[in-house]
Amino acid sequence: MAEGPVVHHYAERLAKVLEGRSLYLELRVQKLKPVEASLQGLKMESVEAHGKQFRMRLSDGRILLVHLMMWGSWRIYRKGAAWDKPRERARLIIGTDKHEAVVFSAPIVRVLTQSELESEPRWGNLGPDPLRHDFSKKEVLKRLNKQPDREIGEALLDQQVIAGVGNILKNEILFRAGIDPRRQVARLTDTEMTEIVRWTIDLSTAWLDELRNKRRNSWIHIYRKSGKPCTACGEPIEFFRQANRITYACPQCQK
Ligand SMILES: [Zn+2]
Repeated sequence: MAEGPVVHHYAERLAKVLEGRSLYLELRVQKLKPVEASLQGLKMESVEAHGKQFRMRLSDGRILLVHLMMWGSWRIYRKGAAWDKPRERARLIIGTDKHEAVVFSAPIVRVLTQSELESEPRWGNLGPDPLRHDFSKKEVLKRLNKQPDREIGEALLDQQVIAGVGNILKNEILFRAGIDPRRQVARLTDTEMTEIVRWTIDLSTAWLDELRNKRRNSWIHIYRKSGKPCTACGEPIEFFRQANRITYACPQCQK
């Protein structure tokens, strides 16, 4: 699943080709067919990421929300160029006079007004996103503290606590912060909480920077490295299941 930095990186690329342009849209999701006609000729005001969601603001105020879930992907094609994926797998086509941006195999595509989005129980009410200007550490801590009994490794994956963190970031954040993923939120000190937020910002930013500069994953130390020596202390990295996800940790460095 695409984590926040990957979504932000793609949103930047989409913004370049779509913003300010008149659109034609093809919604290949059965339940959206009835709104398709009402979207033609609108302009794309902005393309933004919030956590793992793409939020595309249209000139009539509605928002096109896309979530790639596990298997979805975007492609941007020059108009008229051949596609490298089968046309029947396209779920959403956003065309301008120069480009076509296509979502393949994404289960979530919605067209919502601002107030519909805000009141949507699953897709609205996202936690602060460390890659957005409106990020608030205070708000993250408030949302974390509402879940005192949860293990931190599980709480960090909750998009309504902090948006954009997926399994890779979760593992690396807790490794850098030196915290065992199985610790309960209530048992973390203020300093540990602050370290978690700091590493969330630092690693999200590092990942996005690497994507922008076509470099790869120099910030990953433990994800998928079970049995390999910890880069800090040399102990073999362990793994275990937590909330249905594989979690990695150094038994020595993470307390
Ligand atoms: Zn270690």
